[in-house]
Parts: sequence; C-alpha cells; structure tokens
Amino acid sequence: MPMSSEAVVDDVTPREVTKPYVQVSAVSKSYDAGANAVPVLQDVTLNIAAGEFVSVVGPSGCGKSTLLKCIAGLQPVTAGRIMVKDQHVVSPPDNMAIVFQRDVLLDWRTVLDNVLLIAELRGLRRKDYEDRAVALLKSYGLEKFVHRYPWELSGGMRQRAAICRALLVDPELLLMDEPFGALDAMTRDDLNVELERLWHATRKTLLFITHGIDEAVYLADRVVVMARNPGRIAEIVDIDLPRPRALAVRQTAEFGKYTTHIRQLFASLGVVGSE
Ligand code: ADP
Repeated sequence: MPMSSEAVVDDVTPREVTKPYVQVSAVSKSYDAGANAVPVLQDVTLNIAAGEFVSVVGPSGCGKSTLLKCIAGLQPVTAGRIMVKDQHVVSPPDNMAIVFQRDVLLDWRTVLDNVLLIAELRGLRRKDYEDRAVALLKSYGLEKFVHRYPWELSGGMRQRAAICRALLVDPELLLMDEPFGALDAMTRDDLNVELERLWHATRKTLLFITHGIDEAVYLADRVVVMARNPGRIAEIVDIDLPRPRALAVRQTAEFGKYTTHIRQLFASLGVVGSE
C-alpha cells in the first residue's frame, strides 16, 4: 500500500527537521598561504544539532584543535563555511564559551574573580553575576575556595573553576579542547561524570575534543573519528547508550563494542596507541 504524505510527515523526527546549531560545511584549513601549503583540515563537513553532545577523537596532529578554533571564530577557514546558529562565523560568537586543556586562570585573581572575569571581559556588570558565580562554584564543590587563589587548588579543582567560568554567562555552545587531558585518571573520571550530568541537566550544545576513546564514547551522542595527513573525518559513530550514564557503563558489552570499533578504525588507518 502506498504511504500517504501524512504518514511521511509523521515519520520525520524533530532532530531531522531542526536546522543544525553548528554547520561545518566542506571546510579546509591551511596555516600557511602559498602553493605548497599543507592542509591541516581537508573537506570537513559536520552538523551538530542544538543540545547535542559531540566528541571528536583522533591522533595528535589530526587537526582537532584547529577544527575547534575555526568553529570558535579564532582561526579563519581557508575554504568552506562555518555557521553557528545561522550566523556565518568570522569572529567568536557571543553565545559560545571555551574550556582549554590549560585552565588559563590568572594567578593574581581569586577563584571568584577568575570566574567573574568573563563577565568583565564582555562588559557586563560584575555585581549581576556574583551570586551565579558563587552558586556555580558551590555546585562544583568549590565553596571553600571562592576567595582562594588558583595556585591553592589541585589540577581537577582548577579545571572545575575554568568550567564555572565558561558557564557564567550561560553559553548555548560549549567548546572543550581536551579539558581533562592533563589530569590523573581518577580525577578525569570524576570530571567526566560531572560533565555528563551537567550536559544532561542543561542540554547545551557541546563539542568535546579528546584523544581518549573511552572518554569520547562515555560522554557523547556521536563520536567524530578523525584521521591525519590531511586532517579529515574518517567516520561518525552514533553512541546509543542510555543516559544519564554512570561510569559502570564502561564495563558493558555495548560500550566495548563502540570502543573496539573505533580502535579497529584507528588501526586500519595506521594509528596505534591512541589511548
Ligand atoms: P590536534 O589538536 O589534533 O593535535 P592541531 O589542530 O593542534 O591538531 O594541529 C594540526 C596540525 O596543524 C599540526 O601539524 C600542527 O603542527 C599544525 N598547527 C596547529 N596550529 C598551528 C599554527 N598556529 N600555525 C601553524 N601550524 C599549526
């Protein structure tokens, strides 16, 4: 029996009809100009829906950070186009915040003043954000460190403070560039759990760069697997694991299927020891 047009419309899910929040279209990027320029990114196309959590995993030098910087408007693309919420990205969008691997906290400012820095930089009234800054620090277990200095904090606490700073102005898009890469394994696990909970509660659009396959799968709705020379997308893997996720999910066969698949993909691309 032929399907009626009504049935076809019923089959369309909201995600399919919603325009992507981030659109990376046929993007190539070289840092050097000239005929011999080596492309760092080649023909990268990626759409991220509003409220989606996407991880990007790949070996060192495949262009993960470059891709994030292009989306953040911190690096121009050489070819192609990036749109964030229907705006062509030519400079950092207002509705975005970034967390880097190094927390970039200023040692001479207290933790609270570091979190409030982002409001000051955006010309917002500090007073209007003080309560929110303290509440964020409290929610990250840093209430005793509000008036302390960054050098008094452990690595994990510093990264938590950096996340609070990024969240202060309630960005719709959160870009994270290997934010837990310099932490010990147990602290990293804690921050993974906290981030998954945060995302589940706020449904921010989240792009998370990592070279850790387990971390990428644990956190994401989709994992973008990149290859290098030139940097490109090798495959995008849908992660269909229930949320909210506990760390124990990493012991399940389903989880193992995803990580094994990605490891095999890297092996087939000649990349070994990615994690
Ligand atoms: P990843 O994050 O995957 O490790 P990067 O995006 O940092 O990869 O780097 C990809 C390639 O681009 C590397 O070969 C790196 O040396 C080069 N690169 C990165 N930043 C710059 C820059 N500012 N100028 C020139 N080359 C760069």
